[in-house]
Amino acid sequence: MDINNYDELLDKAYEKIPENARKLSRFEIPKVELRIESRNTFITNFNKIISTLNRDRKHFLGVFLKKAGTMGEVRGQQLFLKGQYKDQVLNKLIENYTKMYVLCRICNKPDTQIQREGKKLYLKCTACGAREEIKEK
Ligand SMILES: [Zn+2]
Repeated sequence: MDINNYDELLDKAYEKIPENARKLSRFEIPKVELRIESRNTFITNFNKIISTLNRDRKHFLGVFLKKAGTMGEVRGQQLFLKGQYKDQVLNKLIENYTKMYVLCRICNKPDTQIQREGKKLYLKCTACGAREEIKEK
């Protein structure tokens, strides 16, 4: 390999990355901002998280609260959680949710919607057209 051609090779490699994969880098899994008050936790940027994920609030809460193992409710822009939580723990739950219910399995883009068919859930991607069953754990 001619080392002088290295830049050129890099350019070529980059060109081969599909458009979809490049756009992916712009989507970031949202991170919580927390306020602890009287041993309870408020996710103060909850509305922003939901709009970034572009998912139904009820669906997100159903999964999230179950995994967190606590009770909670939306209070204005914030999500109230009973108990004290560390941001790493909550961020991990949001990351898991995003991977399972938001990002396309095939192209990894967040342009998806959840479709329900009987007892099964599918993740339909509007970017690449893939439709994969969501296997809930
Ligand atoms: Zn896709």
